[in-house]
Amino acid sequence: MTSKSNKFTIPRMLTTYRARLYFYTILLITFLVATLAYTYTYSRDAILEQAEYNLSNTARLLTGNIKMEENGLLHHAEMIRDDPRIQEYMYIVTKIGAEKEALRRLLKRDFSWLSVERFVFLDLNGQPRLNTKNADLANAVQEHMRQSQNNIFYTQSSRGFELVAWAAIYWQGTPLGTIAITHLLDNNWLNQHQNYSNGHLFIEKHNVVQLSSLPESEGKTFLPRGDSIVMNNKIYQVRAIPLAGESIRTLHLWHGISEQEVLRQLKRHSQIILALAILGSLATLTVGLMIARDFNRPLNQLMEITHAVTQGALPMMDRAVETNEIDTLSNRFSEMLQSLREKQEEIDHAHKRLEESAITDSLTGLHNRRYLKQIFPQLFAQVQRETHCLSGLMLDLDYFKRINDRYGHLVGDQCLAHMGEVLKESCRASDYIFRMGGEEFLILSLSDTAQGGEILAEKIRNALERNPVTYKQTLINMTTSIGVGLTENQLDPEAALTNLLFHADKALYTAKDNGRNQVIIYNNTLQNTTS
Ligand code: GH3
Ligand code: MG
Ligand code: MG
Repeated sequence: MTSKSNKFTIPRMLTTYRARLYFYTILLITFLVATLAYTYTYSRDAILEQAEYNLSNTARLLTGNIKMEENGLLHHAEMIRDDPRIQEYMYIVTKIGAEKEALRRLLKRDFSWLSVERFVFLDLNGQPRLNTKNADLANAVQEHMRQSQNNIFYTQSSRGFELVAWAAIYWQGTPLGTIAITHLLDNNWLNQHQNYSNGHLFIEKHNVVQLSSLPESEGKTFLPRGDSIVMNNKIYQVRAIPLAGESIRTLHLWHGISEQEVLRQLKRHSQIILALAILGSLATLTVGLMIARDFNRPLNQLMEITHAVTQGALPMMDRAVETNEIDTLSNRFSEMLQSLREKQEEIDHAHKRLEESAITDSLTGLHNRRYLKQIFPQLFAQVQRETHCLSGLMLDLDYFKRINDRYGHLVGDQCLAHMGEVLKESCRASDYIFRMGGEEFLILSLSDTAQGGEILAEKIRNALERNPVTYKQTLINMTTSIGVGLTENQLDPEAALTNLLFHADKALYTAKDNGRNQVIIYNNTLQNTTS
C-alpha cells in the first residue's frame, strides 16, 4: 500500500506551522471581510430599496388620504344639496326673492358641524346669492364649471389654496343654482398630512413652491428631473400626489424625501460594517497570533532542547501543567531527558570506577605505573611553577623471594598489602605512592627543601622495620632498601621522569649492594644516609 498523503505537496513557504497559522488567519480575515463586504452591498441595496419603497408607499397613502378628503368635502356639499329644507329655502330665496336670513340661519343650525372654510351659493346666472363676500370663490366655481364636469377642484384665493367641492341644487326638478364649499390648504393641513410621511409636502404652482412643510423651500423653483430635485443644496426624491381636477394643470402636490436621510442611514450602516470588519479582523488576528505564540513557545523550547541534546548536553526542562498535547509532549520529553541523565550518571560513575581501576593497583590500593605517566607532567609543572623540590623514592623489599618461599605466595601478597599500608601512613596527602610492579614502589614527594625526600625515606625505612607482619602468631620482619633521586627542574617532563627514575634506581641498587635496609641519596656520588 502506498501512502496517499505523499501526493499532496504543501507550498514551500507554508512548511512551518507558524507560517500555516498566519496563512489560515489571513484566510479567515479575508473571508470575514468578504462576508461583510457582501453583507454591506446587499444591505445597501436593501436600504435603498426600502427607501424607494417607503417613498412610493407614503405617496400612495397620501394619495388615498387626499382622495378621501376630496370625497369627504364633496359628500358634505351633496349633503347640503340633498337637504329638502335647504332646497325649499333656496327656492324661496332665488325664485320668490325672500330674505336670505332664514336660509343662513338654517345652514348655521344644521351644518355648522361641517369643517368648512367658506361656502357660497350661486344662482343660475352664476351670481353669488349667499355670502356675497365670497365672490372670488363664486367666480372660480363658475369658471371651473365651464371647463370641467368634475365637482372637485383646487383654487388659489386671497386666503390661500383651497379645495372646492360644488353641487347643483334642485327643488322638485327645478334647477336653482350651485352650492360650493371649501377646505383650506394651510400649514395645519400640511402638518396633518405630514404625519403620514417622514418627508415633506410641497404645493407647487408654475414650477415654484407656494407652500411647504419645509418652509425654506417656499418660493424656490421646483423643477424635478426624473424623480429627484435639488433644493437648498439637498437632493430630494419626489413623487407627485394626484389632485382632483388637475386638468387645470396649475396646482400640484408633491411628496419628497431628502436623500440625505437615506445617505445618513447608509453612512451609519457602512460605519457599522467597517467597525465590524476592523473588530473582527483584529479579533481574528489576535486569536491567530495567540495560537501561533502558544504553539511557538513550547515548540521553540523543544527545538532548542533537542538541539542542545544533539550537541551532547542533557539540559533540565521545567515540567508544564498539562493542558494540551504539546505540554504532554514536552513533559514526556522532560521525563526522557531525566532518564537519560540518570543513565548518563550511571555511565559516568562506571567510567570513573574503570578509570580508577586502570590507574590503581588492586592488591595495595596504591597508584600504578600507568598513573605515574599520567600524573607526572602535571606534578612536574607545579614543581617548576612553585619552585619546590620533587623527590623520587624508589623502594624494593629486601629478600622478598625468601618470604614467598617460606610462607607462600598468598602471605607474600599480604606482606605487600602491609607495605602499602605502611607507606600510606608514613606519607603526606600531597605525596604520590606507586606500586611499580612486584615488590617495587615509588614515592613522589613535594618538599620545600632537597632534604624532604631523604627524611621521608628514612621515616619509611624505620616504620617498616618496626612493623612486622603478623602471620599465625609469627612475626614476619621486612626491610626495604630505598634510593632517592631529585628532579632536575630545567628538564622537560619526560626527560625529568626518566632521569629521576634512573637516579633513584641507581641509588636503590647501591643500597642493595651496600647491604640493604638503607637509604641512598643519588648525588653524583651516592650518599648513604642510614647510620
Ligand atoms: P633483593 O631484592 O633483596 O635483592 O631480593 P629479592 O628476593 O627481593 O629479589 P627480587 O627483588 O629480585 O625478587 C622479587 C620477588 O618478589 C620475586 C617474586 O617471587 C616476588 N614477587 C614479585 N611480585 C610478587 C607478587 O605480586 N606477589 C608475591 N607474593 N610475590 C611477588
Ligand atoms: Mg625486586
Ligand atoms: Mg627485592
